[in-house]
Amino acid sequence: MEKYNFVGKNIDKHTEGASRYLDNRKDGFMDTRHFPKEVEKTQNDIEDINKISGAINSELRELDLPPDFAVDPKQIHFSNTKEMPPTGTYSPDNQQVEINTSKSVLKLVGSAVYQSIVTLSNINVHKKLSQFEVLLHESVHASSFHQYLIKETSDITLVDPSRIGYRFKTKDKIDYFKGLNEAVVQKTTQDIIFKLYKSNKIQKDIHKIFFSLAHSYAPEVIVLEKIIGKISKEKKEDEKDVWKRFEKGQFTGEMMHLRDVEKVYGPGSLRILASMTTQKNPIKRLLYYTYFSTNKKSLKESVVRILLRKDKITEEKYDQHINKMEDK
Ligand SMILES: [Zn+2]
Repeated sequence: MEKYNFVGKNIDKHTEGASRYLDNRKDGFMDTRHFPKEVEKTQNDIEDINKISGAINSELRELDLPPDFAVDPKQIHFSNTKEMPPTGTYSPDNQQVEINTSKSVLKLVGSAVYQSIVTLSNINVHKKLSQFEVLLHESVHASSFHQYLIKETSDITLVDPSRIGYRFKTKDKIDYFKGLNEAVVQKTTQDIIFKLYKSNKIQKDIHKIFFSLAHSYAPEVIVLEKIIGKISKEKKEDEKDVWKRFEKGQFTGEMMHLRDVEKVYGPGSLRILASMTTQKNPIKRLLYYTYFSTNKKSLKESVVRILLRKDKITEEKYDQHINKMEDK
């Protein structure tokens, strides 16, 4: 697979320079960012990182893609601080992963749902698994399709991430498919973990964790599974094959298969899916779930109006699209 994809003016002229620039940033040169309170990786961490590269490559092989992904331990930074808010982040501009080890454990023991699961089983398994899962999730982002926009300003070339996996940003900075992207990355993470932990007992526990609503992206994964189920039913295709297309698109950048969403859910539905983010608002999340699981047209229409209330651009485009389809 192409390492980087570029869009913008005079791409041919700048591809080499832009690739070199991105490689250098990946290797940590020219980096202005520091990772505060970074802790040294243990032998165990290095083993996890290598295990993750291997697991992502087996996944690529299963999808008939070249298994050429390698996450370099240099790209991974562990820190133990309460200041950095997220449990894990991936930054496409320098291709670095940051994991907050204190946070992933906090997340695990902090919520009532987790606590009830944890008391049922071995807390050490969960602590270890929780950090491994975050690291794997961020590494799946790192192995996703990367597209950068080349911005030519006189003789200086600027490179900006424009698409990672399914998520893309338009010129006017509108963020599309953020929720779908996280759902696909998380479901891929879950699949890989299930394959790695073959024991039934652990698998059952993992399942409970992934689908407890305390898990960051559980609501988006549930919406994605609803969509996969419906496409599979309407197209009389195995759910596994439908999912394979979603998963593969994450790595290759192929998005044409998303037309199935529009075919199955009707005009405008892809815009609704594109507008799904990962906001923590439980009502909004429930509304996306409602939209993709109900057959009642009137309910769907009122859900759309609430979802797009503060999003005039999408609402206008949604209406134009619906009207165009009705004229046909
Ligand atoms: Zn993510």
